[in-house]
Amino acid sequence: MSLPSTAEVLIVGAGPTGVTLALALQREGCPGVVVVDGILQGENTSRAITLHAATMEAFELLGLAEQLDNEGTKVKKTIVWSGTNKIETTYFEPLSKYTKYNYINCVPQHVTERLLNQAAKERGISIYRPHKVVGIKPSTDDPKFTDVFFDTGHVLRARAVVGADGSRSKVRQLANVGWADPTGTVNANNKDDALSTMIIADVTATNPPPFPRDAINLILSTNNAVLWLALPGDPYPDKGVPKGETVFRVVCGIPAERGQPPHAPDAAYIQDLLDTWGPNNALPAGSPKTSISRVLWSSRFRTHSAIADSFFAQVPTLGDGTEEVKAEGGPVMLVGDAAHIHPPMGGQGMNLGIRDGVKLAPVLAEFVRVASANPSAPKAELEKPLQDWAEERRPKALTVIGLVKRLQGMLWVPHTTQYALGFIPYNAAWLRDSFLGLATKFEFFRVNGAYQVSGLGNP
Ligand SMILES: Cc1cc2nc3c(=O)[nH]c(=O)nc-3n(C[C@H](O)[C@H](O)[C@H](O)COP(=O)(O)OP(=O)(O)OC[C@H]3O[C@@H](n4cnc5c(N)ncnc54)[C@H](O)[C@@H]3O)c2cc1C
Repeated sequence: MSLPSTAEVLIVGAGPTGVTLALALQREGCPGVVVVDGILQGENTSRAITLHAATMEAFELLGLAEQLDNEGTKVKKTIVWSGTNKIETTYFEPLSKYTKYNYINCVPQHVTERLLNQAAKERGISIYRPHKVVGIKPSTDDPKFTDVFFDTGHVLRARAVVGADGSRSKVRQLANVGWADPTGTVNANNKDDALSTMIIADVTATNPPPFPRDAINLILSTNNAVLWLALPGDPYPDKGVPKGETVFRVVCGIPAERGQPPHAPDAAYIQDLLDTWGPNNALPAGSPKTSISRVLWSSRFRTHSAIADSFFAQVPTLGDGTEEVKAEGGPVMLVGDAAHIHPPMGGQGMNLGIRDGVKLAPVLAEFVRVASANPSAPKAELEKPLQDWAEERRPKALTVIGLVKRLQGMLWVPHTTQYALGFIPYNAAWLRDSFLGLATKFEFFRVNGAYQVSGLGNP
């Protein structure tokens, strides 16, 4: 399928954000939407596991909520296991007064992406792969458009460009948009950095811990956290997992003293992590030991928080990201990880990106309609609603980054004795567990936690 030479909207990146935006634009009747991705389908790895209520409501608009619901497990609570304490920290059931999605719908990202791509195909949306964007500049034919350059030498003229191209966004770089942690540089000794290297794996296990299947389980120790979750259905039908055998998602921090984890950690590496920090430590003495039988997929990753200075930008004049910006070229918008990134605690990133796309679609479709009907209308006037969208969206991402930083700060406590007023020793983990133990006795606290995570107050 050859790449067209013009588009009303060019979406760069066919991850969950880009494909959702394409589906939402189609629902708005927007013509000329082209989606490109630099890699072949399926080369992206599985990451997210959560679909929150606000995101399910967004998917409902696109007619996809039911299908996604059928693929997932309804998680009703999150449980922290700290030493011998079992602390239920969030409880979703009472969110029924706000939404019918009063749970976290747990679906592995590769399954969500498969359904999105399938819907795109069925609805006649073409995704062009592999086509990597390498440059943008105002069009020489019409300076209200943008010429987009591909690694193959192909040039596509677009009225609007959307960077949905992930955290290392080329579009963001080409549009010269700054990218930084909103609370400043990360200090190597602080909480933000403590869980900055992690591994993620989907495994089968013998003697899996008897944790509730409708809960996300987090095993805490003084210097680490392990997530343990049963995945729904048969997430790896091609890998010979017998039907009905449960696959578990494991995520674990790698403290700096352990060095860099392998690119794709094997069973022995993961077993060692579990023996040190995992479920075997949270269960009563003498409980059967959980052993990894097979690793179906694994990866390592680094986490940090960053946000784009603006989710709306102009096109630099010569296209290499260094020139003075003139009021030429079409608008450039940033969505998903291209606009904001943060650690995976609370399972927020993909959810926020999907909602960026669904919220942008009506504004962008209207821009295309008005701009094509009024070719001589002033650029600033035409683009104002897009700027407003960007200004409304950025604080939502800041709210999520703040939430994730608070969660991370609460979960991770240092491995050293600390001193109040410089001389009174105290154990931070004990204080945290005592506080959580007390606060979570109140349903209000647990439901409030669920509401924050659900995105209902920050759609
Ligand atoms: C371990 C881990 C666990 C996570 N868990 C959760 C979770 O539970 N819940 C949650 O909501 N989020 C989670 N996330 C975050 C989630 O994975 C991301 O937020 C999500 O993938 C972002 O989607 P995206 O479409 O914006 O970007 P991406 O998924 O990164 O897709 C970007 C696409 O752009 C393409 N691209 C890049 N550059 C170019 C170019 N120059 N030209 C053309 N195409 C290009 C790439 O090939 C890619 O396909 C997790 C992340 C990690 C690392």
